[in-house]
Amino acid sequence: MLPVIPVYWYLCFMKLKIKYLIWGCTLAILALTAIQGYFIYNTFILKQRETETAVRAELIKMEEHMNIDKLRDAWFEQVENMVRENRHSEINALTRNDSAAISRQVSDYINHNQVLDQYHTAYEVVIQNAVLIDKHSGYKLVLKNKRWFNNGKRLNEPQIIHDLTASDDTAAGPMVRDFNTRSSFSINDWQQNILGQMIGLLVFSALLLAFVILLFYFSIRALITQKKITDMQTDFINNITHEFNTPLATLSVAVSTVKSQPELNTNRIISNSVQVIERQHIRLKKLIDQVMTHTAGSQQLILKKEMVPMEHFLQKIITDFKAANPGAELIERLQCEPVSIAIDQFHLTTAIGNMLENGVKYGGTQLIIITTMEGAFYQIAISDNGIGMVKEELEHIFGKFYRIEKGDIHTVKGLGLGLFYSRQLVTAHGGRIGVQSVYGKGTTFTITLPLT
Ligand code: ADP
Repeated sequence: MLPVIPVYWYLCFMKLKIKYLIWGCTLAILALTAIQGYFIYNTFILKQRETETAVRAELIKMEEHMNIDKLRDAWFEQVENMVRENRHSEINALTRNDSAAISRQVSDYINHNQVLDQYHTAYEVVIQNAVLIDKHSGYKLVLKNKRWFNNGKRLNEPQIIHDLTASDDTAAGPMVRDFNTRSSFSINDWQQNILGQMIGLLVFSALLLAFVILLFYFSIRALITQKKITDMQTDFINNITHEFNTPLATLSVAVSTVKSQPELNTNRIISNSVQVIERQHIRLKKLIDQVMTHTAGSQQLILKKEMVPMEHFLQKIITDFKAANPGAELIERLQCEPVSIAIDQFHLTTAIGNMLENGVKYGGTQLIIITTMEGAFYQIAISDNGIGMVKEELEHIFGKFYRIEKGDIHTVKGLGLGLFYSRQLVTAHGGRIGVQSVYGKGTTFTITLPLT
């Protein structure tokens, strides 16, 4: 059964949905990238600080190990002795060059220390300011920013470990001394080093991001494909419905011609068949008009209700169904009391027709239609002995475009709109639609309509 489809609104919704979805996905990916970038940057900074702290601690340990204070004292004492003994040329030689012996010692230490070596640590101690005045001779030695010792590596962006100050300016002594040193270090190539440590995290993040982008890409592509198929379906429905109009108009003329023949009244079989043809012709015409109306944008269900004797109404449906499905047995147990209800005959015929046809479509060979009065309600139950459905599917089958895809069902063609539309129609009548089914045994649909 071809139901009336509110395709137009559905397509508009899909179009908007896809547009917003693409925007949403792009924003989500950008946000995700920003958050990931922020976390990676933070980890990077944290690692940098950790490295600096570790290197600084190792260098302090080294200075303690070398006893740098003692070295300072020894150096100054040596210079003092030279001053006292007027060995001025030796003083010049001592102060002109870096202290090679200490430098070698430092370099050895750093090369053999795992942390310091790993980060290519550069280390040096600078005499910031050294003053030595011999009060007796008036000799004065002044040194400023003179490198004392280092491990042979150039300092990039040096960081201070500490400044050491010593002064001895006692008026009683023969010498005035002032000695300030600064030890500094730098971690060379730390960026590459830390990036190397974080390579696993970076690769994992990049893969995760690529995976999310791919996921979005394929989802949107699937949606666009689905939309294209729906567009094609709508085009097809539009074209086909227009194409149907000409043969239908011809059929209408032919039916009128046959009906006007006086011999028609003498042959009951032909007369009955012409009635069936005429009813089905009117029905087909209305269906096509509805499809066209709905694809053109009007979704509203307008019921044309009239008081209809239900037994007579159902008998027409049963006759037409039997004519169309001679292979299926349809048993009818219509309740005897005559009942008339205000219904839209056309729409309700569609709903009941859907259920009868589903019964045959989904494996039923015997169908039973039973009508009963339940208080203020009139109930129509349509049972079949077909393939039935599992309990979990029952809440979904009235959904738009829902089809059960399991088992061998997909060989049966359909749009998944029949029951969706049937429920809308019954609800518009103020009624309810229900279903009971046993997998492998059969299904019963019930339509409950209020009497008033
Ligand atoms: P369609 O028949 O076009 O797929 P319907 O909305 O009429 O769409 O039905 C939705 C689904 O419910 C069907 O795909 C089918 O799997 C299931 N179904 C409907 N009626 C029956 C029935 N009588 N017996 C078994 N399954 C049914």
